[in-house]
Amino acid sequence: MTQPQRASVCVVGGGLAGITAALELADAGLEVTLLESRARLGGLTHSFRRGEMWVDGGQHAFLRCCTSYIGLLDRLGVRHLTYLQDRLEVPIASEASDRRTVLRRNNLPAPLHLSGSLLRHSWMPLQQRLRVGPIALALGRVDPADPAVDAQTFGGWLRSKGASDRSIEVLWELIGKATLNADADHCSLALAATVFQLGMLADKGASDLGWARVPLQQLHGDAAERALAAAGSAVRLRSKVSAVLRERTGVRVVTDLDEQVYDAAVLAVPPAALSRVIDPASLGLPTDLAERLGVSPIINVHVVLDRPVVDTEFVAAVDSPLQWVFDRTAAAGVPGPQQYLAVSVSAADDLIGLTNAQLREWALPHLRALLPRMADAEVLDFFVTREPEATFRAAPGSARLRPPARTAVPNIALAGAWTATGWPATMEGAVLSGHSAAEVVLALESTGSRYTWSRYETSSAPAPHEVLLRFAPPILRGDPAALPQSLLDPHTALARRSTRSPSGTRPAYVSPDQLGRAQDLTRALVTPALRKAVDTLAGLEHLVVAYHLGFVDTQGNPVREDGGKKLRPMLALLGAQAVGADPAHAVSGAVAVELVHNFSLVHDDIMDRDRTRRHRETVWSVWDDATAILAGDAMHALAVETVLADPSAHAAEAGHLLAATTRELIRGQVLDMDFEQREQVSLTECHAMAAAKTGALITCSTELPAVLTGARREQRSALATYGRGIGLAFQVVDDLLGIWGDPDVTGKSNHSDLRAKKRSLPICWALEQPGAAELRQWFATGETTDAELVRIATELDRLGAKDWCRSSADAAIGRAVSALHGADLDEAAVTGLTEVAHFVAGRNT
Ligand SMILES: Cc1cc2nc3c(=O)[nH]c(=O)nc-3n(C[C@H](O)[C@H](O)[C@H](O)COP(=O)(O)OP(=O)(O)OC[C@H]3O[C@@H](n4cnc5c(N)ncnc54)[C@H](O)[C@@H]3O)c2cc1C
Repeated sequence: MTQPQRASVCVVGGGLAGITAALELADAGLEVTLLESRARLGGLTHSFRRGEMWVDGGQHAFLRCCTSYIGLLDRLGVRHLTYLQDRLEVPIASEASDRRTVLRRNNLPAPLHLSGSLLRHSWMPLQQRLRVGPIALALGRVDPADPAVDAQTFGGWLRSKGASDRSIEVLWELIGKATLNADADHCSLALAATVFQLGMLADKGASDLGWARVPLQQLHGDAAERALAAAGSAVRLRSKVSAVLRERTGVRVVTDLDEQVYDAAVLAVPPAALSRVIDPASLGLPTDLAERLGVSPIINVHVVLDRPVVDTEFVAAVDSPLQWVFDRTAAAGVPGPQQYLAVSVSAADDLIGLTNAQLREWALPHLRALLPRMADAEVLDFFVTREPEATFRAAPGSARLRPPARTAVPNIALAGAWTATGWPATMEGAVLSGHSAAEVVLALESTGSRYTWSRYETSSAPAPHEVLLRFAPPILRGDPAALPQSLLDPHTALARRSTRSPSGTRPAYVSPDQLGRAQDLTRALVTPALRKAVDTLAGLEHLVVAYHLGFVDTQGNPVREDGGKKLRPMLALLGAQAVGADPAHAVSGAVAVELVHNFSLVHDDIMDRDRTRRHRETVWSVWDDATAILAGDAMHALAVETVLADPSAHAAEAGHLLAATTRELIRGQVLDMDFEQREQVSLTECHAMAAAKTGALITCSTELPAVLTGARREQRSALATYGRGIGLAFQVVDDLLGIWGDPDVTGKSNHSDLRAKKRSLPICWALEQPGAAELRQWFATGETTDAELVRIATELDRLGAKDWCRSSADAAIGRAVSALHGADLDEAAVTGLTEVAHFVAGRNT
């Protein structure tokens, strides 16, 4: 018995969130690929070599209540490489005094476990020490889930409960600043309440502190690589994801080197990186989410001394801007008697822009004041690490901005410490978010059908083909199986017979080097069926559609058909041949994609106000907009009828694919129109638009016959990948022709895309180039006279946009063709599809 195929999931981002999600999914038996842009896993918890020593980019500590994070350490088999205090004990030093105190818990139940120590916390006046208990109890009653709580500042709330500035500074911020990366006066009460409730008030042991005894890289990133490999996952480092695109049958993940479609994706990257790879709006998130969440910096000052100056593993600082000082000598591998101190400064907005020299001048006097034994010590090394985007800004109102793991797209989940975990941006939050994202994906897997992931928003919704059938016209309610046969005229039947291979085992639809013949045969097979379908229309509708398809003139007199390139039907027939089926069995699919294509052209012409197409006047300009809209609608309906009437047992699935494709095509058109209103459109966005607007239907053309004929999944997937590649190439070349094409050859108006100031692919590319100031200016305010359009076309060429088009198209074609190999496809069809691909890249019409 064959094993069911495992769902494939791509996890983007190898920080703690991505590592957690990837491991959980791999452990559940899914096929996981983790893509990380850097040369290592671990994200913000990374280390690097400086000479002989290992340096952590930032000092990290955790609490005993971080149970998810500790669970990850266990899963990675590295918990023994950390140290967790038996009882919380925090030595506190002050720049204002040589005296030290220790914040230490006792064995009483929470919240009394800190009472003795707090009463001795001599940096606060006694009266304030006595207020700590009542304030802590009140904090325990705050509901972090309440939006009104999230809207308040922690500092303001503390003061309203009687806390003084001094107690905020030496107690509440001592703990809060490091965990929240924000001052009390700029921090959401909800986040602060979570930290104190879970970390201080829930359990006496919750706040016991832990830290790594080895470099963080070893603890997380390296161990994760080993664990993922052992779990059978692929980890690809130095793989920067540039775009994540929704597809009909999955999620396409594009890196700088290649692209692949997965059943689902977990995007475990920070918010700014997320919006660079996918439009947040497409996930149901605000487009400016990253800006609204904001970032908060942390700096670490590293000092190597010739002798030890601190006897404890760390010291917390009061009356000092240096918040926490860690002794990392042993973990970094620094030889005695030297001591290596790392000083962590959170919410470092004022310091992040300073140079190393300025920070040295700032830090060392404070360090000497805090640690008196430093007076005689020689500084052997001093350097700084900066994380300008260490965490999101834990500001009031941030809770409502943090999205859950589940997005509006069922098979794309989010992870990251910045998502809605309830925790501030911490290692615990990151791990929790990874689990949540994995749960979203595993819930999909448990529905049983991965094919439905990208299609059904809720499991209770009727399947699209059920909806279509409910509204299907009477023509389909009798014997649907009869329709395609009746659509075929004697010519077609002849063509079917004559294209059988001599052996009779496999149909030989196209001989490898005969693209022209393939087009002729496509016409022979598809045109009669197309005519038959159009003949089911009546009156003006029939005339207009027949005119658009090139069968008649505006008066209804037959004309010699041009009918366009027939690219999509040709792909459909070749696709059928590729999976070993008789191309004649894919005629209904070929007719359907041609009809959907033409429906979109007629509507496109209205929107773009294009007056000519295929050397003839466009429908709206012969008749009017309303007539053209209805003609387009009629072709759309005919397309659906044709596929659903196919006798194949898979007709409903094919109808479903066609409907989803049309929806995608419309989405692409909406994006295209939206881009025209916008001042800036990135190349990534433009690629996503092209993939939807053009790529979707071309992909459907190659995939639909595979669906209709019940081909194997890998064959279908190879054909879809091929379709996407040539879809992109087609659009790039189309955009090239929209600027530089010869109207006599293309049959379109001169410089049509430039005249409309369309954000096409070469234009988006060119606008991102360094020397594009003039071009940007023209797009903002320039005129569209013929002379100006010629000048701008020349300027685009000068910037290299035409060359870029050619090389992009070639690269896409290369990817498309390579996908055809290794999926057990018919060799002659593969050669035919390869010829079509090269035709697409090299066409001039
Ligand atoms: C200096 C500092 C000190 C800290 N101290 C503590 C502490 O003491 N205790 C604590 O609990 N937390 C601490 N934190 C916070 C903690 O480190 C983070 O919350 C947590 O590591 C975030 O993990 P993450 O997986 O959500 O994100 P990240 O670690 O940011 O991981 C995201 C990953 O995605 C990758 N990526 C981004 N874009 C792409 C792309 N296009 N393609 C592929 N990969 C991409 C990135 O390279 C990165 O590896 C600290 C953070 C800093 C910076």
